[in-house]
Amino acid sequence: MQNNKENIEFLNELSNILSKKISPITTISSISKLYKTYLNIEKINFVIWDNNNMMLKDFVQDWKFFDEKNESKEINFTYTNLSAKKGKTFYFNETEYSCEISKEEIKEINENLEDENHIIYPMTSNGDVFGLIKIKIEKQNYTRTFFEITNIASKLISSAIINYILNEQMEISLNFYKAMKDIAKIIESQYELSYIIPLIGEMIDRFMSSHLIYIFIYKDEKYKLVWPSACKEKSIYNLLEKINHNTDFIISENGKTGAFPIINEEKHIIGAIVAYSNIDKLLQKDIDYLLQLTRQSGMTIQRANVYAEVLKYATMDALTGLNNRRQFEIRLKQEVSNSKRNNTPLCCMMLDVDYFKKVNDTYGHTAGDCVLKAVSNIIKNEIREYDIACRYGGEEFFIILPQTNIKEASLVAQRLRKVIEEAKMDILDAGIENIPYLKVTISVGVCAFENSMNANDIAIKVDKALYDAKETGRNRVIIAE
Ligand code: GH3
Ligand code: MG
Ligand code: MG
Repeated sequence: MQNNKENIEFLNELSNILSKKISPITTISSISKLYKTYLNIEKINFVIWDNNNMMLKDFVQDWKFFDEKNESKEINFTYTNLSAKKGKTFYFNETEYSCEISKEEIKEINENLEDENHIIYPMTSNGDVFGLIKIKIEKQNYTRTFFEITNIASKLISSAIINYILNEQMEISLNFYKAMKDIAKIIESQYELSYIIPLIGEMIDRFMSSHLIYIFIYKDEKYKLVWPSACKEKSIYNLLEKINHNTDFIISENGKTGAFPIINEEKHIIGAIVAYSNIDKLLQKDIDYLLQLTRQSGMTIQRANVYAEVLKYATMDALTGLNNRRQFEIRLKQEVSNSKRNNTPLCCMMLDVDYFKKVNDTYGHTAGDCVLKAVSNIIKNEIREYDIACRYGGEEFFIILPQTNIKEASLVAQRLRKVIEEAKMDILDAGIENIPYLKVTISVGVCAFENSMNANDIAIKVDKALYDAKETGRNRVIIAE
């Protein structure tokens, strides 16, 4: 650093680097280059105090613990001292100086130089020290300007880094509250565990980026994996064995895997959530998050169980307001026997939304639910009063058409297919910006009842027709032979 012009250039370039929206790694490697060019500084390290672990970590090396050549003890000591002075001091080699360094002190520094020297500046935010900037530099004559410029540069870098950290933390906590809310929200429309658990699994999985998530249900004194479909890690099962109803959570010996029991209101274990990694340790903050996510999931699962119990006696599907599957089975048997007794025609149709999984995957399950409601409303509008519409399963519907021959039934099916194809399904509830509606198509199988059949035979036949409609390209009606 020769003259004033160069100083200004240096600070200018530094501000330019810091104002760019680039990754911290790129930013810091540009800063290092800049320090090398202008200040002849060989090496610059950024260490950040991590409150969760009460340790200093290297900011660049992806938050690895700072332990360069066993310097950690010394650097911790430095950090404690600089913190106590609220960032108003810095270190040159082993001596602490005020940032407003005097002429005499500069002289003293220059007289006691070693071949390689280091300077440590505090990084501060609102008067608190949150990290250190450590500079390694060869023997040279240090001027007042050198200290002034490096001190200002440290302040600029500090404020950029703290902004980055705060933004990152805010994003994590926003994601966390979103996951908590989403898990609580599932129960509003869904009560089938086989549907709920994968959703919960995906939500936690999305939140915990460095660990794999597994969900187990505890039944007959065994942990049964319910999400995802396979778990080959024997160590996970061994860890689960160690859980009892008084365990908040249990961490494997290597600190990388954690098992969190899901406990119901009667204090019985009903399942467990496991976070597994063979690389990353679970940090205290991961454990805190997982504890809360497990509790939230436990409540959702418990409520789903209670609903399922209540709904055994219900006739209506909670999401769509159509008859539920159980009611469907009763009504189909009734209509089959009516048709036999009175010798009246009877038809059935089964319909299934095409590529519905894509709707969920692209727009989320709330949008999926909106589409299912919209499809159900169209079905209700398009059928006659004495037709019986049911939600058969996920995105499958069954309609029983009493006193209807196959010609009429296929007209109804074609009309329904067309109306749905043209409809704009309102998904405003899903709150997706700029996407107020979606369009979907359905495939339909239709079948007429014959006297030799029972209820089960019809269901099989109509299902086959629907399968053919899917196989031959979807968005179509197939009449069973
Ligand atoms: P295909 O055209 O062959 O029918 O493809 P598809 O994607 O519609 O079929 P698939 O059976 O693979 O997917 C059905 C999806 O429906 C999977 C499941 O996540 C979703 N689903 C089931 N029940 C519900 C529900 O109640 N709400 C929502 N949003 N999705 C559901
Ligand atoms: Mg289906
Ligand atoms: Mg489908």
